[in-house]
Amino acid sequence: MNNTINYTIDFSKTNQHLFNIELTIPAHQSDTLTLSLPSWLPGSYMIRDFAKNIVIISSDGSTKLTAIDKQTWLLNTQGKACTIAYQVYALDHSVRTAFLDTRRAFFNGSSVFLCVNEFVDSTHQVLIKEPEFDQQWQVATGMPRASGTQKYQFGSYVASDYHQFIDCPFEISQFDHIEFDVAGCTHHLILSGKHYADTKRVVKDLTKLCQHHINLFESEGALTPPFNEYWFLTNIVPNGFGGLEHKNSTALLCSTFDFANINEPNQLTPQYKSFLSLASHEYFHAWNVCRIKPVEFTPYDLTTERYTQQLWAYEGITSYYDDFSLYRTAIISFEDYLELLSKTFTRVNRGSGQNKQSLIESSFYTWTKFYQQGADAQNNIVSYYTKGSLLALWLDLTIRTETSNQYSLDNVMHQLWHKFGQPSIGTELIDLITIASELVGYDLYPAVSTILNDKKAIDLTPLLEKVGVSIEQMASKVDDVLKINTNSHQPYLGMMTKTAATGVQVVNVSEDSPAEITGISSGDQIIAIDNLVVSQQSIASVTACLTIGKPAQIAIIRHGELLMFDIVVRPAIKEITKLKVMSPNLVNIWQQF
Ligand code: ZN
Repeated sequence: MNNTINYTIDFSKTNQHLFNIELTIPAHQSDTLTLSLPSWLPGSYMIRDFAKNIVIISSDGSTKLTAIDKQTWLLNTQGKACTIAYQVYALDHSVRTAFLDTRRAFFNGSSVFLCVNEFVDSTHQVLIKEPEFDQQWQVATGMPRASGTQKYQFGSYVASDYHQFIDCPFEISQFDHIEFDVAGCTHHLILSGKHYADTKRVVKDLTKLCQHHINLFESEGALTPPFNEYWFLTNIVPNGFGGLEHKNSTALLCSTFDFANINEPNQLTPQYKSFLSLASHEYFHAWNVCRIKPVEFTPYDLTTERYTQQLWAYEGITSYYDDFSLYRTAIISFEDYLELLSKTFTRVNRGSGQNKQSLIESSFYTWTKFYQQGADAQNNIVSYYTKGSLLALWLDLTIRTETSNQYSLDNVMHQLWHKFGQPSIGTELIDLITIASELVGYDLYPAVSTILNDKKAIDLTPLLEKVGVSIEQMASKVDDVLKINTNSHQPYLGMMTKTAATGVQVVNVSEDSPAEITGISSGDQIIAIDNLVVSQQSIASVTACLTIGKPAQIAIIRHGELLMFDIVVRPAIKEITKLKVMSPNLVNIWQQF
């Protein structure tokens, strides 16, 4: 009996941004079937209600389709084979849902493939029909090609079950493709959108990063990744950034000028570093979270929120290695690496969020807090990415210093992969700590548990000193946090702003800052300070000229009314962290692997 669930996608409604989909279900035993679309997708922990984008849905004449809730339908089939036709509206530029216009199609299966719940474990196949309006489009996806379908060609793609089926996003457009080999495995760099990338250099750097991660997780003698192919599906837009991990691919979003270009062979711009760090991050996830997973995600329940306290480990450790691997592969110097790490410290320590939310809470409430941040985020929540990466640093340095560099966090990740990831056993919070404790020879749980539950900064100063690195706090303007400014008398307002039609618009206000004390609110439009009209370019200069402690007039528009306040600027607070190598001998312990 053929149990394959078949889908076809055609592009006959592209101008309306509608994927036209047919789902064919084979004959089966039961009288009724349940169809549903996920409400979230792995890697992005927010209820997105993908079913809201289904525009029309109908079954063939012999079956009856009844909606049960916002994302579920009951299909009365009397066991007969049947076909469902539906359309999905797709105009989201992000890596999380689906997009369709006359230039490009992209989708995650979780946005377009209705799940037949009774057939979750069956083979799933999709036929992607070539559009009539553009013969230049090609297809890129990590989903295996069905027999007869050539690489990059329209045709059929097949997955062994529904979970694999929706773990393979599709990029369909006129793209550049470069193939490269890492550890005997073909990797594909897909570049969709206008770019000036020096693709040889990008491939050279990606090769080093991929090989680094393979070496870290896999055992010597069998250094092959746990996939047959890997796809970097990169969408390039004028201004964008993001990524989403999958088992053998990643969907990346980046900006036109993020790449190394051929005219600047020796330039390593911050944008290119960010792109490499993003690619490194998502590739690390191919092991850490796509295969080594919290027990709460084995299996994924995509109908509702799945709460876990472990995202600090899955995102934090991945974030630690995304930048650290740039140093370890000699793409950046150790000094450059410390600069990136300094920025992570600054992001965590800026604002009062870590005094109100613990790492455990940050992981747990990701659904409503981290993924739905408001203007209050820096005052009220902490990121399990950035603070989680500082805990990863704490673990790495603790293991290194306690074992005279016999072991490191690498060994923890290697063991997690072999003990939990490979045999598909979900992790409990304690598992990582137990492995680390075994390496150092004593119980790390009390110390790690304190860091996880504390609502305060992690004190990394003693550990950094042990490895010859100093940590210093410096003052800077809050609206220019990435620029190191040692002038501690810099007058400080305590808010971030962005360009407005006239003046600037307040993005957020720091707790206990002059702006907050004055009563300035996020959303306010600041027109003038000290009778000078300000712009995003001039506000820092105007602020720098104000006298500390003396009231200055500030003119604001709020809800259409002109308001006047007096603001009293203060010296800038020391919220910039700067790490520096003090002892090249001691720092060896951190640099070796
Ligand atoms: Zn991530």
